[in-house]
Amino acid sequence: MSYDPAAVRAKYLRERDKRLVPGRTDILDLRHDERFARYRADPFTPYRRRDPVSDEVDVVIVGAGIAGLLAGAELRKAGLRRIRLVDAAGGVGGTWYWNRYPGVMCDVESYMYLPMLEELGYVPRHRYAFGEEILRHLEEIAARFDLVSDSLFHTEVTRARWDDTSARWRVETDRGDRISCRWYVLAVGILNLLKLPAIPGMDEFAGHSFHSARWDYAYTGGGPGEPLDRLADKTVALIGTGASGIQCLPPVAESARHVYVFQRTPSAVGERGNRPTDPDFARRLAPGWQKERMDNFQAIMLGRPVDADLVDDGWTRHYAAVHHPPRKEGMSLAEYMRAAEELDFSIMEEHRRRVEQLVSDSSKAEILKPYYRYLCKRPCFHDEYLLAFNRPNVTLVDCPSGVERITARGPVVAGRQYEVDLIVYCTGFEPELTPLYRRAGHDIVGRGGVSLATKWADGAATLFGMMTRGFPNMFVMPAPGQQAVVTVNYTQLAVLGAEFIGRAVRLMEDNGVEVFDVSPEAEEAWTAKVVDSFVDSSAVMSACTPSRINNEGHPELLNPRNGNYGRGFGDWFAYRERLEAWLRDGSFDGLEVSARTPAP
Ligand code: NDP
Repeated sequence: MSYDPAAVRAKYLRERDKRLVPGRTDILDLRHDERFARYRADPFTPYRRRDPVSDEVDVVIVGAGIAGLLAGAELRKAGLRRIRLVDAAGGVGGTWYWNRYPGVMCDVESYMYLPMLEELGYVPRHRYAFGEEILRHLEEIAARFDLVSDSLFHTEVTRARWDDTSARWRVETDRGDRISCRWYVLAVGILNLLKLPAIPGMDEFAGHSFHSARWDYAYTGGGPGEPLDRLADKTVALIGTGASGIQCLPPVAESARHVYVFQRTPSAVGERGNRPTDPDFARRLAPGWQKERMDNFQAIMLGRPVDADLVDDGWTRHYAAVHHPPRKEGMSLAEYMRAAEELDFSIMEEHRRRVEQLVSDSSKAEILKPYYRYLCKRPCFHDEYLLAFNRPNVTLVDCPSGVERITARGPVVAGRQYEVDLIVYCTGFEPELTPLYRRAGHDIVGRGGVSLATKWADGAATLFGMMTRGFPNMFVMPAPGQQAVVTVNYTQLAVLGAEFIGRAVRLMEDNGVEVFDVSPEAEEAWTAKVVDSFVDSSAVMSACTPSRINNEGHPELLNPRNGNYGRGFGDWFAYRERLEAWLRDGSFDGLEVSARTPAP
């Protein structure tokens, strides 16, 4: 394979510059702009009137997705009786409640992604499970641990305030509820805020439109896994070609009269290799298998040696390889960087060749080829997406600087009007580095009336990425941007966080602790460790095509305080060991605790 590093770099920069345009990151304010509030509405569960609730529970957990359900399950195991999950959705499931677009599936292996498989004695039906199965499994977890009866759905917390006198959190919601609780857990998710680009004229469109995370089956007909029978005479615009757009194109193309796919940046689409679960595989699984599989994947993603690659997919073969290129003995840093660049180029070339092999029209194929380094965007994996472009009813519209405007008739690109009946915005979510207090969507007020937004205005400050001084008895599920670690398989981090919270609460209950707060020294030390291990990768990342991974072209603005425990993505194994050691020690090191009853 011929490889001219200077030419490749120049091509990548040209492609980047086409996309680094003013207004690229402008998005609508869906919470406050009434004209667009309908995009957030729930099409899946009817909204029911109910009387406000006014009572006391043991714990309020904000969010009923994977993180909230796991926290609830672990707190149930820890002995808490009244557990109340509060969620804007009409039921449990979080991202899997909302994302029901046709073709939705998990993009890491389901045997690792679906939590508590061993506890529930379940093995997913496919290597990469479809959304319906994941949602059903999460509903099973909720039922198993009785997490629904006390919960409040279609409800958003508007304010939570710590009251020192009663040593309780006071939680208010948009349905007029007033709840007090001893423990407060934020499990709001990492990609929970819909993102709609601010394209001029959007509200003038005369047809129908929705976001992929609010799929309107009443309009399209069908359901997940079924033909969209009301699209047969409809022309559809799909805007966005990230993980969601890629998954929903094939089923939409099968049903619609015509589909225009508006692509701003091509994704790198690797082989998916999905297949039904082999019954022998399921039979052979030995106790402890799920944790072992998660650890094996995690070790590979961190470049650690393993005996076997149990998952063996594009994440472990490509992502891990590029993330941790082998460094041969005696290599200088410059040689290592060059070898890493060449490895990256060869993997991206493999993706570009794949486009050529699968897409018969060479001019379409050229537009679909990704020209940037592999880690610049979260990679995608799919077996039918590229093939959909061979259909006569699918047109690819190249728009590196985005859709220009939307008129009553549909999108406009390069001055050309595309007339459509339906626009589906597959435009994703606000990035995971969006500060926690924004993702939480409500005022969180701690000791002395200080809000979390004020406290974290210059960046996060925590112990373990899960507790923060001035906010007693509050736990935050670990997430990117919060001084914990980052994992490609988010479930693994959620499992760890939930187990920690459950065990920490049990420890406090056993020791008669009524209130905990983080000591200033412990918070400073943890934050300093995070800041010290921050690696400034802006020199490499600024050459990337803009994406949420490089802060939309401005990696230099990333705040080291919002980094991880350990370099880069953080050191998962060291982080877990640190939490384990703290629980084993049992002395509440780093916390200020006050006893329920005066010590004898
Ligand atoms: P993404 O942010 O990945 O993609 C959004 C798409 O919209 C991009 O192609 C973006 O272009 C495009 N876009 C944004 N604004 C405009 C505009 N003005 N004009 C034209 N195009 C525009 O969102 P997704 O919902 O696809 O995925 C988000 C994340 O959710 C994934 O990265 C993944 O982490 C997660 N996910 C996980 C799944 C799973 O199975 N676990 C499944 C689906 C999603 P550009 O690339 O230029 O920004």
